[in-house]
Amino acid sequence: MTSVSVNIFPSALDSLRRTATRHSPDETGGVMAGTRSCRDGALEFNILGVLGVADFEDFKDIYTASPTEFVCTDRLGWATLALRVVKTYGMSYIGDWHSHPNSSLTTLSTRDIHHLAQQYMLGQFDPYPPLHVLLNWWLSGEDFRISAHIMLGEFIAVLEPRIIG
Ligand SMILES: [Zn+2]
Repeated sequence: MTSVSVNIFPSALDSLRRTATRHSPDETGGVMAGTRSCRDGALEFNILGVLGVADFEDFKDIYTASPTEFVCTDRLGWATLALRVVKTYGMSYIGDWHSHPNSSLTTLSTRDIHHLAQQYMLGQFDPYPPLHVLLNWWLSGEDFRISAHIMLGEFIAVLEPRIIG
């Protein structure tokens, strides 16, 4: 692999921002749909649609959320949410996202990394690596940042998604 890039549609970014701030000060998260390709060693992700788990009454028992933690407590439930994003957007499930409200933390916590490493080891997105998007911002929401984390086995690539479309 020679390069990795992540693109996001403005509508998907808006949706992430709205969902994350609506559930603030608690962390929240969800699933992403889109496309992936690997040509001449260049790995590319396109995030085209997202869903937030907290926006669905029927998924309220599959996670716990606090201002400092977001944890999926039901893997099967999360898989059902992933199916929902596939049906909604007619595209592949490419990864998960979560938020760090009122935080300057642009890096994944130990627990977040464990989650990503587990997806990698299970080959959940084979032949592609798992993608995880993190949103963080300060109180006013002005310093809103988005970072993409891709587990590549030995290390995690971290980059800022490019807005396209
Ligand atoms: Zn986190």
